[in-house]
Amino acid sequence: MSTRRTKHRWLVPLVAIVVSLIAAVALAGDWTVVRERDRPYVTFANVAQFYQFPEYTRVSRTVSLRSERRAIRAQAGTSELSINGVRFFTNFPLISSGEEDLISVMDVSKIIEPVLRPSRIPKSEKIETVVLDPGHGGTDQGASSSWGSEKSFTLDVALQARTQLMRAGYRVEMTRATDVAVSLEDRVNFANRFPHAVFVSIHFNSSSGGNGVESYALAPEGVVSNLSSEHHVSAADVGRHAGNGQDAQNIALTASIHATVLSRLAAVDRGIRHSRFHVLRDVKIPAVLFEGGFISDPAEGQRIATSYYRQRLGAAIAQGIQNYNAAVNYRAGGANFAVAKTNLPPHTRSITEALGADNPVEQPYHHPPSISISAGE
Ligand SMILES: [Zn+2]
Repeated sequence: MSTRRTKHRWLVPLVAIVVSLIAAVALAGDWTVVRERDRPYVTFANVAQFYQFPEYTRVSRTVSLRSERRAIRAQAGTSELSINGVRFFTNFPLISSGEEDLISVMDVSKIIEPVLRPSRIPKSEKIETVVLDPGHGGTDQGASSSWGSEKSFTLDVALQARTQLMRAGYRVEMTRATDVAVSLEDRVNFANRFPHAVFVSIHFNSSSGGNGVESYALAPEGVVSNLSSEHHVSAADVGRHAGNGQDAQNIALTASIHATVLSRLAAVDRGIRHSRFHVLRDVKIPAVLFEGGFISDPAEGQRIATSYYRQRLGAAIAQGIQNYNAAVNYRAGGANFAVAKTNLPPHTRSITEALGADNPVEQPYHHPPSISISAGE
């Protein structure tokens, strides 16, 4: 008896040591990190190898990583990345070094990883409540043009999204459901009351010459804001905020809504950006600020002024939220994940359609999803 007990006492720590050694070796073998411009970078060839893209090409400064179901394209010297057809602004510039093109470790961990493998995001939970935040209201008109004002368009889009989400079984809370002014602090405090929830702030842009949709996730700690218009944020602030606890969920939610809107409305893709808008900074649940187009653009402004377009926009946002929920909660159901991950949905198909609005749960995934878009849909 006592001998056996002694053996067991040794066995447990030994197993733990062996397992952690294997993990350390696997990690060391997977990534080769180099320092450039004072921060850690990896090569795109390394990204291709780690995520098992069979095809990796580099023509002049453009790198292309392809598999049957996924694709990444990027160009050294820029701060942009295309993942499965969706445009992302990177946190740091992509650079060339000798024969290699490099991407920062920050961009791999904060963009590529959660977008390619949302089902692996730690601490993701089933979403039960959606907090919709129609921008502006009351005396705060937001942007306006001869077609109408931002505050009324954002409210209508949110109400349209609410209808679809409630039909799909979600609890929906609105920071405002009528034409009233609500402070940014009150919006955040309201959102933070709900567990198992996401926060979706809806706005429209206005600026001469601009058109298309853009989406914002909270900038990770140490990353400078990258925004195109309207909202004023201090660029000097690169600190950590409450919302940074959900960086991975933030980008997955943002990408999912952005991709779904693009695939359904064929809008111009102004990309997924990062900023420290008040509502993104202090909210403690996954959050996105979505800009649904330019009301100042003659063509886009007229479209936004139609209830038909706003209904489609609201439905697409709702679908994007549902896609996010399904993607982060996907479980391989006991299947060998190594096998499953080589069978991700084709990048030419949106994860949207895999989980059609009518049968969101009945139709199970056969493959872990990545967040994607199809221009043809
Ligand atoms: Zn706005």
